[in-house]
Amino acid sequence: MTSGPSPSSPRSVTILGATGSVGGSTLALLAEQPELFRLEAVTAATNAVRLADIARRHGARLAAIADPSAYRELRQALAGTGIEAAAGPEALIEAARRDADLVVAAIVGAAGLAPVLAAIRRGAMVAFANKECLVCAGTILMRELAQSGARLLPVDSEHSAIFQVLTGNRRADVERLTLTASGGPFRRAGLDEMERATPGQAIRHPIWSMGAKISVDSATMMNKGLEIIEAHHLFAMPEERIEVVIHPQSVVHSFVTFKDGSTLAQLGEPDMRVPIAYALAWPARMASTAPRLDLGRAMRLEFEPPDLRRFPALSLARLALRQGGAAPTILNAANEVAVAAFIAGRIGFLDIARVVESVLGSCAILSLASLDEVVEQDRMARAAATGQVAALAARNAPHTRHEASA
Ligand code: NAD
Ligand code: MG
Repeated sequence: MTSGPSPSSPRSVTILGATGSVGGSTLALLAEQPELFRLEAVTAATNAVRLADIARRHGARLAAIADPSAYRELRQALAGTGIEAAAGPEALIEAARRDADLVVAAIVGAAGLAPVLAAIRRGAMVAFANKECLVCAGTILMRELAQSGARLLPVDSEHSAIFQVLTGNRRADVERLTLTASGGPFRRAGLDEMERATPGQAIRHPIWSMGAKISVDSATMMNKGLEIIEAHHLFAMPEERIEVVIHPQSVVHSFVTFKDGSTLAQLGEPDMRVPIAYALAWPARMASTAPRLDLGRAMRLEFEPPDLRRFPALSLARLALRQGGAAPTILNAANEVAVAAFIAGRIGFLDIARVVESVLGSCAILSLASLDEVVEQDRMARAAATGQVAALAARNAPHTRHEASA
């Protein structure tokens, strides 16, 4: 069995998506325990200056940027440091293939699929945050995982909670999983208010500080829908045995109920450093300065069922999981396009679920046998979603002008 990192046997780490929110929390943890970890490679989408700065400060050996046009800037920023620079989608795959003990998958969206697959194929430990990959290609990734002996260590707080609770328990004894959800910024909002919600309001999450895309997903609750699909793959649990409960304080990170009627939970302050630290040091635990839950202070923990009428994304994700095949791939791709259009101010907040529903209803649901088929379905769903967005944006435009002149 793998042992945790120690000063005599430090763990080498590659971070895919090092400039993001999860990437930043990971770097903060590595910096707290420099004798336990060594940084192999870091990647980013487009920000060469920021990536070079991270590589220099944390002593990475390789910095890889997805945008090929940023190569020269990256190379200049790393001149004289001895740190390798690389660019383009292939460079990210190469970064994932480098011989690091652990790869932190912290890219946002299906864009992370190829590098995550490369890490899985070489049998690495993968600290897994990039849930869209499991949503769009779960069956294929889990099959590759079984073949290569790689390990997915969940970073998503709910899945880390379940993973921790399952340690020392038999999976066969699990009756159901209950994912907690904060409810996001519109937990109490009416449909009128949600229809008018701006990107700024949607991204301002009441509890968690995260990247823009997952913040909007939390506001629509598509994030919890994606997490149901993620839990289905990670824990081999059928859809009907994965429940969702709203828990606004985000202190209980999820529950596991066993067949003898016992329910176990993992608790902690809502701070991503806690689940990331568990994955970084697994199967050991590392010391960290992340805040402790203070049970000496008065605190109320509330739980309530989600409102499926105001948050249709939850039902759409369940439907896609039940349909299987390409349905989750289509759901994810349509959602990525719709969220980007909402952030860009082209469509309204409630239009996000409308786009997803319409694309899911209009695409044929094929079965998926290979990564090429996933990529093709993803591409087709993005094209369909782009068409839907254009139609909605055209319909919204005169309305917006009317309001502006009123
Ligand atoms: P973010 O937007 O803050 O960072 C995303 C990272 O991915 C950045 O480094 C960016 O450069 C890189 N990236 C974006 N597009 C890319 C592309 N096309 N090719 C290559 N790299 C690209 O996102 P985040 O909030 O850190 O989330 C990352 C992942 O972790 C998401 O899948 C999210 O759902 C999951 N997650 C995040 C949190 C959180 O607290 N932020 C919690 C749970 C799960
Ligand atoms: Mg989560």
